[in-house]
Amino acid sequence: MNDIQLYDKKFEVFIKADELKHIVSSLAKKINESNLENPLFIVVLNGSFLFASDLIKKIEIPNTEISFMKISSYIGVNSSGKLKKIFGIEKDISNRNIFIIEDIVDSGNTIHEVVKILNNKNVKNIKIITLLYKPDAYKKKIKIDYIGKSISNDFVVGYGLDYNDLGRNLSNIYKLKE
Ligand code: 5GP
Ligand code: MG
Repeated sequence: MNDIQLYDKKFEVFIKADELKHIVSSLAKKINESNLENPLFIVVLNGSFLFASDLIKKIEIPNTEISFMKISSYIGVNSSGKLKKIFGIEKDISNRNIFIIEDIVDSGNTIHEVVKILNNKNVKNIKIITLLYKPDAYKKKIKIDYIGKSISNDFVVGYGLDYNDLGRNLSNIYKLKE
């Protein structure tokens, strides 16, 4: 039912838009409860742009700021392991409370790199938010503070996530059909 095709691959519905809405609301509630002062949300592009925009609209912490960085590691359906910083944070963020917004944490290479970059900038505190988390693929020790949903090691697309640049506009999340 409702399968889609992107290039050579078929995908099936995995997380519907309605469930995504619930996940985003419950994450926002928990983040709002943290009440960290003058937080800076750093959106890790590209994949997290839709998730981040839905989430940030629900953040009610006073003096919230938003910034973006871009890191790239995936080619096709496998993590390339090689990370490329496309652009980072230019302004002074020393002593700031940071929330990193990720679409999905897989091996953890990307989040590890992002945390390393931010720690070099002497931030006060880093919390990690991810919509999706693959516990069986995760190889790092860094704690993921806010997890929308843990999933198995399937390749997923939609709601910002792509397969070779296609599928980001889909409002459901789909998983690869074997
Ligand atoms: P990691 O560095 O943790 O292995 O992978 C993190 C990045 O790889 C994510 O931010 C995301 O861009 C991409 N990625 C990981 N798993 C998937 C997946 O199932 N689907 C898509 N489209 N991208 C993924
Ligand atoms: Mg990402």
